[in-house]
Amino acid sequence: MPWLGWTADGEKSASMRLFLFLACLVASCSLSQAAPDQRPNILFLFTDDHATQAISAYGINHLTELAPTPQIDRIAEEGMLFRKCYVTNSICGPSRAVILTGKYSHLNGFRKNQDSFDGSQQTVPKLLRNGGYQTAIVGKWHLKSEPTGFDHYEVLKGQGQYYNPGLFTNGEMVKHEGYTTDIIVDRTIEWLESRDPDKPFFLMSQQKAPHGRWEPALRHLEWLDDVEVPEPATLFDDYSGRIAAADHKMGLAEHMGDKRLMLEYSSQHTPEQLSVFDAYFRPRNEAFLKANLEGRDCTRWHYQRYIKNYLRCVRGVDENVGRLLDYLDEKGLAENTVVFYSSDQGFYLGEHGWFDKRWMYEESYRTPLVVRWPGQIEAGSVDESHLVSNIDFTETFLDIAGEPVPEDMQGRSLVPIFKGESPQDWRKYHYYQYYESGGHGVPLHHGVSDGRYKLIRFTEPQHDGWEMYDLVEDPSEMESRYGDPAMAEHQVRLEKELVRLRRELKVEE
Ligand code: CA
Repeated sequence: MPWLGWTADGEKSASMRLFLFLACLVASCSLSQAAPDQRPNILFLFTDDHATQAISAYGINHLTELAPTPQIDRIAEEGMLFRKCYVTNSICGPSRAVILTGKYSHLNGFRKNQDSFDGSQQTVPKLLRNGGYQTAIVGKWHLKSEPTGFDHYEVLKGQGQYYNPGLFTNGEMVKHEGYTTDIIVDRTIEWLESRDPDKPFFLMSQQKAPHGRWEPALRHLEWLDDVEVPEPATLFDDYSGRIAAADHKMGLAEHMGDKRLMLEYSSQHTPEQLSVFDAYFRPRNEAFLKANLEGRDCTRWHYQRYIKNYLRCVRGVDENVGRLLDYLDEKGLAENTVVFYSSDQGFYLGEHGWFDKRWMYEESYRTPLVVRWPGQIEAGSVDESHLVSNIDFTETFLDIAGEPVPEDMQGRSLVPIFKGESPQDWRKYHYYQYYESGGHGVPLHHGVSDGRYKLIRFTEPQHDGWEMYDLVEDPSEMESRYGDPAMAEHQVRLEKELVRLRRELKVEE
């Protein structure tokens, strides 16, 4: 049939090759118009220093009833809550670098907050963008170098401030007026409105809150004012029984400073904002200074001032999580959008007398993770058996998008766990390492946890030694059991696993 273009010897004519090429081009164009990319959207809601103790879905302590987080809880009620999600390095920038790369700090190069992220390396937004996703980040970045791999970025400079933030927007600084937690979600919604609806999105919406210095929204200043927040049992910890804890510089008693205590303000408020803000704090500050409190009475006042402002900042976050969930509902996006809520690490809410993070102790090592994925995750699921980690987030995003996972990543996709499966070869041990020597008085350390038993190695000359805990017997980690004959079996086991993990994860010696 010569009209099909086959010559007598079976080869295509040049004109037929051109015809087939054009026909394929037309077919692929009409196919892409008819069938937009239906892969799930990924909305990663991320906050800074938000402890599981201050999320009511976790139900860890008295704060659950006092300061509920109904919108974050909604993600958990309609999705899955992870009770054993641990970070690889409990501090702000390093956690973010781990999530972007799927690699431990020693391999992604961002070990401590003073480092600058190498944006030329492989990251999840780059891989998703190459795979056809629209990628955007709005809010806190905190990695110093300019964001790469995003179609749109709009990020705070450094820590940012709670009022009237500047947002570095695709190379240009743009000033905004208002409360930063609200503005980040305003800008997130603005980007969602402007995106291409025929392509799936990967959107990181990342709050500064509730990172210090904890300046609440004007609308939340009075909330909790007449409440006495119960104190944690370890508020007056004397740090005996541990190697390095006594040398901390994160004490509510002595290390808060005037700005964390709101005796001085950090933001550049507008005159209108300042008049409301100051009208709340000034008379209370004057009464405090006049009372001249000492000892435990003074620490107790610091604790109340700290925890109330922290919880007020959390309330601002929670309300804005609700705004985004409502937006997804209104736009018909909820069914095909996987929503994550997490934080860069846990935090001390007065436990051990502390604010801040960094230690491998549970309050700062554990981070919140709740995920909603309609049709894939059974509503109201709770996972407390798997040890999961922020190093798993990267591969999870790629797996959701159906994109290949590079072999040099060090986590695991959580998708099988989302679907109710329990992979036989899931990790039984999790490796941790902290690098910011002396930050808030916390020395270098690394360790391994199996979710119940934990082995920690402190490595600086003045704090050279080991700690070990059984979280069932000593959930607050008040007394190291390292060297206790009753713990010998577990100690040997964890020491062996620590050696294995350091080798497998390519930790430099
Ligand atoms: Ca943080």
